[in-house]
Amino acid sequence: MERLQKVIAHAGVASRRKAEKLIVDGKVKVNGKTVTELGTKVSSNDDVEVEGVPIDKEQPVYYLLYKPRGVISSVSDDKGRKVVTDYLPEVEERIFPIGRLDYDTSGLILLTNDGEFANLLMHPKHEVDKVYIAKTKGIPTKDQLQQLKKGLTVDGEYLKAVHTKIMSTDGKKNTAIVQIILHEGKNRQVRRMFDALGYPVDKLKRERYGSLDLKGLNAGDYRPLKPFEVKQLR
Ligand code: URA
Repeated sequence: MERLQKVIAHAGVASRRKAEKLIVDGKVKVNGKTVTELGTKVSSNDDVEVEGVPIDKEQPVYYLLYKPRGVISSVSDDKGRKVVTDYLPEVEERIFPIGRLDYDTSGLILLTNDGEFANLLMHPKHEVDKVYIAKTKGIPTKDQLQQLKKGLTVDGEYLKAVHTKIMSTDGKKNTAIVQIILHEGKNRQVRRMFDALGYPVDKLKRERYGSLDLKGLNAGDYRPLKPFEVKQLR
């Protein structure tokens, strides 16, 4: 038996907090009866419906999106800004992004309706290479980039890169293109790491996630993952 909000969150329908709100708002039914009690426990034999749609009845689906800049990594936005799911209008399943890219960051983001898969990928123990290309204001030295690999504490949080490499520099414009690979996915991690060195990130793109890249896609394009690609990520 598990708490209802946990079951809803695991099914990928909503975050735990949103699931609690759905319950309190009377939008959840268990075996045909509306349940508003947060502590309610359910088992896999119980039929759970959220806003009239049974959970766990959808086939799991997995997509890769080349997120453009200026898009929120969410399924809705109170301010009416573009969100990642706007780019997959044909997908009928209740998909959501796995993790986040900042509004101003472009690149590879995965979407699914498989909550368990999403939780697995976002777990700190799940070490998958996330490869970013950052354009920095100013040109960091090799020693400074080395510091990012050793790790540094920013706002009380320890942040560490797996690999860093200068790809090119522009002395006239005083900018550098740096590849940085992370295993972690902490909030605004790349930007905060370069800020801490004194080289703010001007542009940021995620090029690769594990063995997945953006080959053949333009910003705003998406494609389904192949079954072997899903398997490789697990
Ligand atoms: N690091 C950032 O700073 N931003 C992102 O969007 C992803 C990683």
